[in-house]
Amino acid sequence: MQAHDARLDRLAHQRRTLPEAVRVDELAGRRSELSTRLGLERMAVSDLEAEVRKADGDVTQVRTRRERDQQRLDTGAVGSPKELQRLQHEMETLARRISVLEDAELDVMERLEQARAELAATEVESAGLDSELAEVTDRHDQAVAELDRQVALARSERDRTVGQVPDELLALYDKIRIQQGGVGAAALHQRRCEGCRLELNAADLRELAAEPADVVARCPECNRLLVRTAESGL
Ligand SMILES: [Zn+2]
Repeated sequence: MQAHDARLDRLAHQRRTLPEAVRVDELAGRRSELSTRLGLERMAVSDLEAEVRKADGDVTQVRTRRERDQQRLDTGAVGSPKELQRLQHEMETLARRISVLEDAELDVMERLEQARAELAATEVESAGLDSELAEVTDRHDQAVAELDRQVALARSERDRTVGQVPDELLALYDKIRIQQGGVGAAALHQRRCEGCRLELNAADLRELAAEPADVVARCPECNRLLVRTAESGL
């Protein structure tokens, strides 16, 4: 009886402290961190893509204007020298502007490339984590199923034993078990109670030895039900 209960307690403890469960929690925590990071990095990439489009539009706009000026020059549409001077000056200004805008576009493109590389690395990490999480979850579920199977077996064995124990004795055992932190009965081994580990004194041992085998003995120290065996030292 005591052995069955100890086994059930041990199984319940194992189930509460499964290393796989700890690992699943740990991975799930990292999973949620990574999801946040993925979201931020995707947003950064899409922001930079919009910036590149805008920078590209800016360059195109100024280029178009400079080409138009160039055409006016080429076709000789400009009459006065003053107008010609103004146009040449504007074209120089536009050329400088184009160079500045192109540098800016290049800078944004580099940042976009870097952001995309970071995102790709995070996606790889995320995929790895997902497969690890799936694997650990699978192991966890198997461990739980195995423990459940053992619990069911231990329960049915305990139930079989309970059927053979008189009700009164069972009630006493349960009461002591609760009082004594889970151990209601202990063997007397070499004059020592296996429950409290104390050696019984000579008088108690004599008294115990004199009692018939069907009388339920109790440890004088810890009050547990005392099971007498051939190794009891009586
Ligand atoms: Zn004891």
